[in-house]
Amino acid sequence: MAETAEINTPLDAEAAEQTEAGNYFVANYPPFSFWSPDYVGEVERVLDGPTPEDSNLGVYFHIPFCRKRCHFCYFRVYTDKNAAEINAYLEAGIREFERYSQKPYLAGRKPQFVYFGGGTPSYLSISQLQDLTSRMKDLFPWDETEEVAFEAEPGTLTEKKLEAIREIGITRLSLGIENFDDHILEVNGRAHRSKEAFRALGFAQTLGFDQVNIDLIAGMMDETEENWKRCVDTAIENEPDCVTIYQMEIPYNTTIYKEMKETGKVTAPVANWPTKRDWVDWAFNRFEEAGYTVNSAYTVVKNPDDVKFVYRDSLWEGSDLLSAGVASFGHFGGVHYQNQADVGPYMTALDNGEFPIFRAYATDPEERLIREFVLQLKLGQISVAYFQEKYGENVLEKFAAPLKYIESEGFLSVEGDTVKFNRQGLLQVDRLLHEFFLSHHRNARYT
Ligand code: SF4
Repeated sequence: MAETAEINTPLDAEAAEQTEAGNYFVANYPPFSFWSPDYVGEVERVLDGPTPEDSNLGVYFHIPFCRKRCHFCYFRVYTDKNAAEINAYLEAGIREFERYSQKPYLAGRKPQFVYFGGGTPSYLSISQLQDLTSRMKDLFPWDETEEVAFEAEPGTLTEKKLEAIREIGITRLSLGIENFDDHILEVNGRAHRSKEAFRALGFAQTLGFDQVNIDLIAGMMDETEENWKRCVDTAIENEPDCVTIYQMEIPYNTTIYKEMKETGKVTAPVANWPTKRDWVDWAFNRFEEAGYTVNSAYTVVKNPDDVKFVYRDSLWEGSDLLSAGVASFGHFGGVHYQNQADVGPYMTALDNGEFPIFRAYATDPEERLIREFVLQLKLGQISVAYFQEKYGENVLEKFAAPLKYIESEGFLSVEGDTVKFNRQGLLQVDRLLHEFFLSHHRNARYT
């Protein structure tokens, strides 16, 4: 097996201080820039193979429509599609699920978890949601599904729509609130305002979802420390089951980056990284005082025994993900894939009776181990025994050099079976994870 990278680049905190353009968030491994159309045949090879005995299955559907494009958004979203165009897209998605349901690898498998992401899934009308989900259930039944997660933009939610979302079987509702201050929401191009956020959150909490999560972003444009603290306290007062906090990053294909480029700016007009880490640290402490538990680099939960996030935990343990919809990312038996990123080629592929897959990557066992290791470290800690049992490798030996290095920087410790990040390590985990990558995967662009 190839060695992991030599430690030859210092964790230069000074150089990394300003928020410059780029993706910092590590969403998968190997980096997307290594995925290629050359591997697409590998996906079909797995799909034509036998059903695996020991892998959970998740189902993801991507809804790429939004009311308005946020200035920090780097997803491919459409803000101008009419009902007929959206219906055509949903029909294409169902055709895609049908194609998958006919493959031997997926025959008879029922999803452990289902996820509706975007874009804005709650942009769909009640009848579109009812039709879509009932047809998805016919193909991949939800009767053994532990979690059905659904992302929503507060301004798209009426009480009737929220009731319908609950009735179709959603268990985890995630509200993209981002901030409770109307000025910050406006400056950052969000479509909703705080009034809609409070109304949606309050009503959702009466409907019996297993969990209601809210998303917040630390360091949006015009954010001040005072505002951030008020935002965190407002979140606590409203008692969501779970809060996900992202540190603002400015990827290349955002409106903010385009403006930076036009005006020749290198530094993004948002808080620098130490400030964002301080703000998230303050938030984590405040949530802990209020009885919440920090259970990943990005989440606090009110009751860790009840509030699970099956999608995250299962994916980070290598489960299969049947991912449908434009630009979506999936994974079967060690082969990653991504769909066509534009609606046109996506629909054309399905019209031609093909899978709409644009690029893929067939991992080897070492890459799979690294993937799980870095993703699980985002939870703050990993079990050495887990990797020994699953991969027959001692990760303390395999990653001795990067572990020693990050430990010497004061960010982690090894305690018996556990490799554990401390708070400062957790707050910059995405930067530190590159130390575990194979040398040729380091410093790759993450888009
Ligand atoms: S709501 Fe989300 S997906 Fe839609 S434009 Fe804003 S950030 Fe992008």
